Amino acid sequence: MAPRAIVVSTYELGRPSFDVASAAAELAAAGADVEILDLSVGADLDRVAGARFVAFHVPMHTATRLAVSAARRVRELAPGATRCFFGLYAPLNAELLGRFGEVVGAEFEGDLVAAYRRTVGDHPPRPGRRRRFRVPDRSGFPPLERYARLRLPSGELRVAGATTTTRGCRHRCRHCPIVPVYRGRFVAVPAEVVIADVRQQIAAGAEHLTFADPDFLNGPTHALRIVRRLHAAFPDLTYDVTIKVAHLLRHRRLLPTLRDTGCVLVTTAVESFDDRVLARLAKGHTAADAERALEVLAEVGIAANPTFVPFTPWTTLEGYLGLLDRISELGLVGAVAPVQYAIRLLLPAGSRLLDLPEVAAVAGDFDPDALAHPWRHPDPDVDALWREIDAVVRREVGRDADRAAVFGEVRRRALHAAGRPAPRALEAVPDPVTVPYLTEPWYC
Ligand code: SF4
Repeated sequence: MAPRAIVVSTYELGRPSFDVASAAAELAAAGADVEILDLSVGADLDRVAGARFVAFHVPMHTATRLAVSAARRVRELAPGATRCFFGLYAPLNAELLGRFGEVVGAEFEGDLVAAYRRTVGDHPPRPGRRRRFRVPDRSGFPPLERYARLRLPSGELRVAGATTTTRGCRHRCRHCPIVPVYRGRFVAVPAEVVIADVRQQIAAGAEHLTFADPDFLNGPTHALRIVRRLHAAFPDLTYDVTIKVAHLLRHRRLLPTLRDTGCVLVTTAVESFDDRVLARLAKGHTAADAERALEVLAEVGIAANPTFVPFTPWTTLEGYLGLLDRISELGLVGAVAPVQYAIRLLLPAGSRLLDLPEVAAVAGDFDPDALAHPWRHPDPDVDALWREIDAVVRREVGRDADRAAVFGEVRRRALHAAGRPAPRALEAVPDPVTVPYLTEPWYC
């Protein structure tokens, strides 16, 4: 009987992850009897009992915290199993995760299989026989209907799948956890693998696709080749991507092709409308660039999903109000997911932000439970406002939030914190939700 191997997914922004399915394909090819447990959609961790090898995917902060707690339980449920962590946050937190088991990197496929083979006493194949990427094995995922869907302004919900055309990023933004791992590099997944992955998801009911690349236009030729081929084969498929502001401007001539091949939504990290903050984050764009990029998307007819980091050590109460005003003036209230108003700068292990003296001055030692360096704002009123706003947006998680109402409530509290008169009643709803969005409310 083949040894049992389990791939555990804890949190992937409501998506059925390419990397989890890639790990499943690799382990199956190495001879394992593989099962995927996606805890975010209710899988039962007790199923690890009897497994020889349990691999936890840790692509981001929340997923890693959940994986650490799951790994503790797996020690009781499957005491003989090797535990292994893979994904972006594995090398970043190697010291901590190494206490629980093996740690392999973000480009994990070969090392994950090697760890499995060591566990079962198998001999590695001769060098040179391994393929770099296999078509992900999605047979162990629950139905796509269990994952986040795309909601269109009409109210129509489209079943969504997810894939990846590249990992890593060619940029070096100072706050980004990808930078210490990829150091300005990215890795392309072969087009044939991506297309086969999409084909199997469409066969399973996908009507929409999220390309989960950190930035879809790191390799524009590769990206466009894939979406052109997909559109030719599946003309009704819609998709969304993430593209940085600087790429939206540099590659604006490509945007009509994205629209014409089914792109309906672009997530773009505006982060701030304050140039001093953008410079400290080394985003490679200014506030004017961000506004221009949002205009370009509107002109082309692709909806924008702008994201922000409103709470940083440089945030002031007036500055936070200024951000809200700019969002309103630009007609973005309907486009901004409520959670964006409460995002607070995260300082994960290895954060390059700690090189900045003003960040180092407010940051504490790495907290292994929080998996981050805690930090305090120099003005306690800003931290108090963040806690209030965080409570407001948390109430909306899991609900189909009225974005304009949340904006009004956030602004009312920000005005109060700044000692300015707040409107007695909610202001007129400026922007109903007229953009498509994914029904997963969180962002991390
Ligand atoms: S462009 Fe995005 S993915 Fe790339 S380094 Fe900057 S924040 Fe990270």
